[in-house]
Amino acid sequence: MEYMYDGPPEFGATLEVAPGVHWLRMPLPMALDHINLWLIEDGPGWTLIDTGLYSKHSQKIWRQAIDEHLGGRPLRRVIITHFHPDHIGMAGWLVAQSGAEFWMTRTEWLYARMLTIDIGDGFTDAMVAHYRRAGGSAEYLAGLKERGAFFSGLVSEVPRGFRRIADGEQFEIGGRSWKIVVGNGHSPEHACLLAPELGLLVSGDLVLPKISPHIGVYGDEPDGDPLRDYLDTLARFHQLPGDAIVLPSHGEPFAGLHERLDELIQHHEERLVDFTAACAEPATAVEIANQVFKRRLDAGQLGFAAAETVAHLNYLIAEGRITRRVDEDGVHLYQAC
Ligand SMILES: [Zn+2]
Repeated sequence: MEYMYDGPPEFGATLEVAPGVHWLRMPLPMALDHINLWLIEDGPGWTLIDTGLYSKHSQKIWRQAIDEHLGGRPLRRVIITHFHPDHIGMAGWLVAQSGAEFWMTRTEWLYARMLTIDIGDGFTDAMVAHYRRAGGSAEYLAGLKERGAFFSGLVSEVPRGFRRIADGEQFEIGGRSWKIVVGNGHSPEHACLLAPELGLLVSGDLVLPKISPHIGVYGDEPDGDPLRDYLDTLARFHQLPGDAIVLPSHGEPFAGLHERLDELIQHHEERLVDFTAACAEPATAVEIANQVFKRRLDAGQLGFAAAETVAHLNYLIAEGRITRRVDEDGVHLYQAC
C-alpha cells in the first residue's frame, strides 16, 4: 500500500486529489477524530459524497467551506455511502439549505429513517437485552439504559424522500462516468463509487487503510452473520481494478486495493482463530472480548467490542467451530467444539 498525497487538508479546507475531485475533512469528537468527504465538480455546481456528524462545530466548518471553497457554486446532489451518523449527519441540514438532490441505497435510507424515529423505551430495552445476553455487567447495562437511543442526536433530520441508488448503476458526475458498487457487512447496503476514467474508488468505510472496518452484531439482528457478508464483499471487490486509487472515509487515499483486501481477509481469519481459542472454556461474549482485545475495555469501547465479538462468534457457530448455549440467567455461553 502506498499513500498518494502529502497529508490531509485542514478541517474545512479542500485538496484536489484528481481532476475535479476534492478532499474535504470534517472533525469527529472521538478517538477516530476525522471523516473524509469528497466534493466533485458537477457542471455549474457540486456533487458531495458524505457529510460529517451533525453538530454546531460541523455547521461552522461547513459554512466556512461553502464560503471559501465552493466558489459560489451550489450543491446539486448529496450522495451518502451508508447510514452511520458521521456520514449522514449533516445531510438533512445541507439538503434543506441547498435544495440538493439526496441519493442513497434503499436499505441505508430505511435504517437512517428508522433510527431517527425509533427512540422510545422499546428501543432501549432491546439494546439492553442484547448486551445482557452478551454478559454485560449490571452497571454497564444501567449506563446503556440511561443513555437510551442516541442516533437521532447525531444527525440532522434525514430527508423523507430520497433518490435510490443501486449496485451496478452508472451515472455522470461532471461529464465523467461513475458506477455504484454495493458492499455489505459494515452496514446493510453500503455504496462505494467507482470512477474508471479517473482511476478512483470512493470506498466509504468498507476498505480503510489503517484500521479494520467495524463489523458488529446489534440487538436488531442478534443472530446476524455480517462478517460472512463482509468477507464475501472483500472477495468480490478483487474484481475492481487493482490500480484504482482508494479514497477512504478515514485515513488517507492510497494505492494497493487488492493488497489491502488480502490484509483485511487475513486479519479476520486470524481474529477467528483468536476468538475460537478464547472460548476453550464456556465464556460470555464480554469475557471473550476482554480476552481477545487484551485489555479492560471501558464502557464506551465495550459496546463496539462486544458487537464485533458477537459478529465473529456468530460466524464461527455457522461454521460449526463453536457452539452457543443459554445459561439459567439467559446469558449466552460460547464454547469451542
Ligand atoms: Zn460506518
